[in-house]
Amino acid sequence: MQLAGTVGIVSDDRAHYIVRMPPPRPPPVYLDANATEPLRPDARVAIAAALDVTGNPSSVHGAGRAARRIMEDSREALAARFGARPADLVFTSGGTEADALAIHALGSGRRLIIGATEHDAVCAAAPGAAVLPVDHNGTADLDALASLLAGGPPALVCLMLANNETGAIQPVADAARLCDRYGARLHVDAVQAAGRMATDLRVLGADSMAISSHKLGGPAGAGALMLASAVSSIAPLIAGGGQERGRRGGTPPVAVIAGFAAAAEASGDADVLAPLRDAAERAAVARGAVVCGGAAPRLPNTTSLALPGVRADAQVIALDLAGVAVSAGAACSSGKVAVSHVLQAMGLGPLAGEAIRVSLPWNATMADVEAFAVAYSRMAVRLARETSDAGRRTFVD
Ligand code: PLP
Repeated sequence: MQLAGTVGIVSDDRAHYIVRMPPPRPPPVYLDANATEPLRPDARVAIAAALDVTGNPSSVHGAGRAARRIMEDSREALAARFGARPADLVFTSGGTEADALAIHALGSGRRLIIGATEHDAVCAAAPGAAVLPVDHNGTADLDALASLLAGGPPALVCLMLANNETGAIQPVADAARLCDRYGARLHVDAVQAAGRMATDLRVLGADSMAISSHKLGGPAGAGALMLASAVSSIAPLIAGGGQERGRRGGTPPVAVIAGFAAAAEASGDADVLAPLRDAAERAAVARGAVVCGGAAPRLPNTTSLALPGVRADAQVIALDLAGVAVSAGAACSSGKVAVSHVLQAMGLGPLAGEAIRVSLPWNATMADVEAFAVAYSRMAVRLARETSDAGRRTFVD
């Protein structure tokens, strides 16, 4: 039992003890959807139902066939949702593996060209790739792409549909036409776009597209590489037992895949979040923030807010202490914050180390944004004062 928020009584069979309780905390406001989305209710239901089915989808008996039915229904739903034939969809462990598989399979024997703001999942799988520059708003330079494509042997181009830090949407369909003209292949990382904006492999005209379950409200642990039919027989990165028509070995996580498909079907686009995102932006700009890449077409749920002179990690920690979860431009798996290569590529100079990413989840409310606005305002005033006291900054409230 808790008393008055500061002391409480804890009992065991022998006695009652009066203990000091931590002060009640407001529920955290979660604005880090681009790191991972909250699980959608439909996904939870589908996972629970699939967990009750025991069976390996590769087994021929009835139990195996029941598991296989769930997987194939999920494959059909995902393929229909994102513009591929079911047979052209390869399940993977997530977006990182889908990107790596695409580059391994479609890039073999080709030169690699990647956008300057690609996710590390692509950068790490394409060492030595030529880099396609972006403008001040993070939009890829298609004239530069044409020159790169004209000047060498056939290439694989990797261009993301929407950026994870700024939300900037790339001109992928135009890039696909250029790639066609020069005999290049195009892989699209649609991990942040899927479930938030129109995302269709056929409409984009790309050769392959990566998506990820936990970025659209499904559980972590599954993703998919969707392939154009002409290139759908690919060499595996993980051979194993020949699952996924020999394109990806390993027993698939059936319940996770069921949740992935249910989440994808429940996701529309995220346009309803745009007014909330804009309100968060207005509140931050009123306190001195700069919106990075604000003039580009962007995902409706994402904004990158730089506070000149104040380090991104200090902002993230201050907001976390105030119960608001956001992230810095790029967080390493170690939890340390690196200066964002995305914002650097956009030519933002020191702001690249001073930007936080606010990304609204599918279930965000105006109350979340209001809580963010209050926390941001306090944080900006306090950190500005501290930084200017330390002589590193001139901004004052
Ligand atoms: N691509 C983009 C654009 C991402 O934002 C991420 C994750 O943040 C990934 C790929 C990797 O996806 P996953 O976490 O499913 O491996």
